[in-house]
Amino acid sequence: MGYERRLLRVNLSRRTTAIETIPPGLCELFVGGRGLGAAMLYAAQPAHVDPLGEENRIIFLAGPLAGTAAQSASRWMVCTKSPLTGGYARSVGGADFAAWLRFAGYDSVIVEGKSEEPAYIHLTPQGCEILDAEDLWGKDTVKTQEMLTETHGDKTRVACIGPGGERLVRYAAIVSGRRTASRCGVGAVMGSKNLKALAITAGRSVRVFDPEGFKKLAAEQGRLFRESGQFKEHKEWGTTATQNVTNSLGIFPTHNFRYGQLKDCERIYGEEYRKLRTGDFGCYNCSAQCGKAHRVTTGPYAGAYSEGPEYESIWAFTAPIDSISIEASIRADQLCDDLGIDTISAGNCVAFAYELYERGIIDRSDTDGIELVYGDHQTMVKLIRKIGLREGFGSILAEGTVRASRDIGRGAEAYAIHAKGMELPAYEPRGAKSQGFNYATSNIGGSHCYGYAAQEVFGVPFPRPINRFEEAKNADIVIGNQDSAATGEVGIICNFSRGWGWFPANFGGLLAAATGIEASADPVFLRKLGERIVNVERAFNVREGFGRADDRLPSRILNEPLHTLGAPGEGEIVREMEEFLDRYYELRGWTGNGAPTPGKLTELGLTELTKNMPAKD
Ligand code: SF4
Repeated sequence: MGYERRLLRVNLSRRTTAIETIPPGLCELFVGGRGLGAAMLYAAQPAHVDPLGEENRIIFLAGPLAGTAAQSASRWMVCTKSPLTGGYARSVGGADFAAWLRFAGYDSVIVEGKSEEPAYIHLTPQGCEILDAEDLWGKDTVKTQEMLTETHGDKTRVACIGPGGERLVRYAAIVSGRRTASRCGVGAVMGSKNLKALAITAGRSVRVFDPEGFKKLAAEQGRLFRESGQFKEHKEWGTTATQNVTNSLGIFPTHNFRYGQLKDCERIYGEEYRKLRTGDFGCYNCSAQCGKAHRVTTGPYAGAYSEGPEYESIWAFTAPIDSISIEASIRADQLCDDLGIDTISAGNCVAFAYELYERGIIDRSDTDGIELVYGDHQTMVKLIRKIGLREGFGSILAEGTVRASRDIGRGAEAYAIHAKGMELPAYEPRGAKSQGFNYATSNIGGSHCYGYAAQEVFGVPFPRPINRFEEAKNADIVIGNQDSAATGEVGIICNFSRGWGWFPANFGGLLAAATGIEASADPVFLRKLGERIVNVERAFNVREGFGRADDRLPSRILNEPLHTLGAPGEGEIVREMEEFLDRYYELRGWTGNGAPTPGKLTELGLTELTKNMPAKD
């Protein structure tokens, strides 16, 4: 048999480890990756546990294609309950950690309980140990990985937290290499368990169900990539030039989401980043190598080096505070990776503070004496360090914009730009409505990856061309984007690669050849698979008490007209929030309160799994 269907369960409270087989039937229904993560978390976790408490579980997953000859398919994922949103969390990382998890013979690691002292987990094909991490605690993510590789040798790969996770920053990341599973605060969950790292030592070997068939399909995938224009473009630029597109469209959120265009944005276009580029890097077995490293050689940030920033982080450290300093963005990105915090939430929290200061809601007595003025990037860098270390005012921002606004009071809530408590990414919802509705209905909160609307940003005419200013009419597009992203993350494939010609047909064939689950090659099964996953994630949130009122965009997006510098979209707001939800729920087969109906759960084979989901209407 290929695809080990083996999981490692580690209980840090009892200091026990056990190797288990993934329950029969679960793989056939969910295949792997995100599907298994959602189902296992739903089944194992009681409702209403404290996300930073002992009862919360954190599940690490590699997909069935990880470590194989299939390209762009070795991403890893974490599923848990989010300390930022209080709901379902799924966060994805790159580099080669997923491949190493498979090399060690595991598809998943479930971590339960809490260690009394700092600890790390060391896995090998022979077994697993829980080891003392006293000397690693307090170290940044670079030093932590260096020390663990020194201890366990070159054949070791690590996923770890930095000081941000240790100090329970609610949007702390988990870092492997210089790639991060950064959203939803998954790093804080590790920190709450006193778990510094997972280290895996293994040689390169992974089995597939049908080696000959797999080899042919992997060769076909390589051909499809080589012939894809989008692949070539991505290899050349990664996402370092996406701002050229979004700023021209008027969907580059500026001044804490007040405007859709940044003045003098050409100064931070991809061509400018390229001048500081020092090399390419990427994830395990991906010929795109889309990571672009940058080094600053002059000025106040001389010496700053980052394996990034990519588009989201370029945005997070420029437009929200009206900065056009590429150098500051590189330094801020490096700091976030070192400290282990999410760049998107960090950038939002800083911009939120700048706006509160501008409006006189806070002053120097709140900010440790620091003046916050739009355009001042040096203060942004200072604040990021304070957030990651939870120092002074930084500790308030480390709670995320929603909790920080409650703490500050004085009307601050109006300037928290989030969905379900997670800060919004780099696409302005008033000029890209389906992207916005995806944020609102995403089960993990404000995430672009949950159902990226490439139709609006890049004009992809699939499954049909759409007008980016139309609203309820495009509910089917939002659903299709969300379900298709979920299907790909069964692999776990890279979201970028879905446009390179191999998805879904070649992908489905590779899944079947890897796992022996023949249904995976069937396009109808694949479509249902994505829908099934989104429904389990929704059921998790319903059980936690989420409903229609949580499927919402921030008040600024619903009430305050967008301003651009001439791009289409001037004066736009999101008008049809309720009409959209009615249509979206109807098409999904959910109740008017956003819960899957018994009929929908039966259709998707989820009745047994979700039997303890309360009716929510
Ligand atoms: S395209 Fe980039 S992010 Fe995606 S797998 Fe390849 S190197 Fe990693």
